[in-house]
Amino acid sequence: MTLKGKAAVVTGSTSGIGLGIARALAGAGADVVLNGFGDAAEIETIRAGIATEFGVRATYHGADLSKPDEVKALADHAAAEFGRVDILVNNAGIQHVAPVDEFPAERWDAVIAINLSSVFHGTHHVLPGMKQRGWGRIINIASAHGLVASANKSAYVAAKHGVVGLTKVVALETAGTGITCNAICPGWVLTPLVQKQIDALAANKGLSGDEARAELLGAKQPSGDFVTPEQLGAFAVFLCTPAAAQITGSALSMDGGWTAQ
Ligand code: NAD
Repeated sequence: MTLKGKAAVVTGSTSGIGLGIARALAGAGADVVLNGFGDAAEIETIRAGIATEFGVRATYHGADLSKPDEVKALADHAAAEFGRVDILVNNAGIQHVAPVDEFPAERWDAVIAINLSSVFHGTHHVLPGMKQRGWGRIINIASAHGLVASANKSAYVAAKHGVVGLTKVVALETAGTGITCNAICPGWVLTPLVQKQIDALAANKGLSGDEARAELLGAKQPSGDFVTPEQLGAFAVFLCTPAAAQITGSALSMDGGWTAQ
């Protein structure tokens, strides 16, 4: 229980990677604030399940992270419930796939707001408390697309490269204070966000689900296998341990070899 007594906020943790990370942090003893969209009853089942399974406090706040005042409300909720935010995992994200000349401006704004600006706003609100306590972990879930590009993902690639840049600035501004800030850059993870892209590929090319999954992995991820939310959760927990105290400002790949090419 290395994180007992710590309080964590994980954005976008009602599903996918965020849920895997929230479960892993709770498994290490941290109290957690969940956030994200979804069916209220299902979210309550997830929240209560985490609290019972791991013997920690778990709360939920439904902030829409495309809105700066709601990001503040999420930070305020965490401070009111736990008196502190020790670990902030900026994970919430969306995708939109279209060539630049057909990319709807409204989708560009939404991707930048959720995938990039919310990382700034959340960090802005939790840093003063972390500095006061002399300890903090900010973990930004960027992407292989924070390091390299793919066609048709202009907003996502721009936002994720932005997250990697912001991570470096926060790391420099907090160096030596007991706070670290890193970006994790996953390759393909089989979550609802990626399932949508597999479904679109299957529909476009007349492939079965299995064929589309294999084609998606084959195009980018040499390992031929998905990264899992559990592996990312374990990586996030590691970044919160004393062994990781000197890792800061890094863009850390977990991508089955995607960006080694
Ligand atoms: P997901 O769709 O399973 O989960 C996204 C989460 O974000 C959900 O909880 C959703 O409710 C929440 N969310 C979406 N919009 C929100 C908003 N406006 N306000 C608050 N919450 C919101 O997706 P995922 O694949 O788990 O992605 C999580 C993060 O990991 C994203 O930042 C994504 O870019 C990144 N990522 C995913 C992959 C992948 O292959 N799945 C790879 C690299 C990076």
